[in-house]
Amino acid sequence: MRITRITVYHVDLPLEHPYWLSGGRLKFETLDATFVKLETDEGVTGWGEGTPWGHTYVPAHGPGIRAGIETMAPFLLGLDPRRVLDVERAMDMALPGHLYAKSPIDMACWDIAGQAAGLPIADLMGGGSRTPRPIASSVGAKTVDETRAVMDRYRQRGYIAHSVKIGGDVARDIARIRDVEANRAPHEIILYDVNRGWTRQQALSVMQATEDLCVMFEQPGETLDDIAAIRAKHAAPVSVDEALVTLQDATRIARDGLAEVFGIKLNRVGGLTKAARMRDIALAHGIDMFIMATGGSVLADTEALHLAATIPDANCKAVWACQDMITVDIAGGRGPRNIDGHLHLSETPGLGVHPDEDALGSPVAVYEAR
Ligand code: MG
Repeated sequence: MRITRITVYHVDLPLEHPYWLSGGRLKFETLDATFVKLETDEGVTGWGEGTPWGHTYVPAHGPGIRAGIETMAPFLLGLDPRRVLDVERAMDMALPGHLYAKSPIDMACWDIAGQAAGLPIADLMGGGSRTPRPIASSVGAKTVDETRAVMDRYRQRGYIAHSVKIGGDVARDIARIRDVEANRAPHEIILYDVNRGWTRQQALSVMQATEDLCVMFEQPGETLDDIAAIRAKHAAPVSVDEALVTLQDATRIARDGLAEVFGIKLNRVGGLTKAARMRDIALAHGIDMFIMATGGSVLADTEALHLAATIPDANCKAVWACQDMITVDIAGGRGPRNIDGHLHLSETPGLGVHPDEDALGSPVAVYEAR
């Protein structure tokens, strides 16, 4: 089987509500999504998506994905997409780094490999759990009252996992954490996501003021060095998200004991092939995981669900469904959707959901084997 054509689409995915991170430092209204269709000489077609969370969140850029694919395409045409390691190495040779540009290609290859094998991607990767994965809410509220209202809205829809966005104002963060903990149900999974919004000193202030509550903080500083410095002074459980990009980051976090949880975002780390290695490092070191798309449509959420299904139930905290935050549905209601705050793995071979091409507009680029 050979890749014969790579077709690239650019779609803007508007967010239902403007979204702020890092204590209001970063604002997001529309996500720049790239969809990729890989066609083969055997008639099997695979789809991938790369949707960074804007271009201010982490070093990932929507137009950069499309430029990256233009650069890599001549090295990919003619390869067997089922040999995902060959494709990964070809991409890494053609364009070192730029992991976010590679994830849609990797995803489309896994989609084809799954269809060719007659297996959902998770089963092709070695076996997927059918336990529905809880979807983490994304609570971007600012005040105590707003936080309570947003969480109650999610609870009414069945959510048991919550990512409460904090960072920026120490006194307000402490007040919000105390209120959320006072109202938390015993079975709820809650993490406080700083999204890099604290200095080292601010992190220690909040951790010390809330240490009786034993809550978990995600990405409480900008870098792994910041987190290492904070960890040396406080024992609060930590999840690393934005600073987990490469396999080397994963090995450092594991070896140095910098976190209890990996937040693995597939677009950021370069797709399923690279993320699966991070999963194994996490499992080997007693580290649990949140698995998420960086953003995007049901395709990106589904990719994340496949990886999440390959993690033992006890070690997979939650997934995320960005699809619930955007106003455009490029797959007409198909694919894993939010059912009572959970996503269910489909038995369809491959990714299990393809977009409506009509919903994607005209391609912005087509690369073909000569
Ligand atoms: Mg996070």
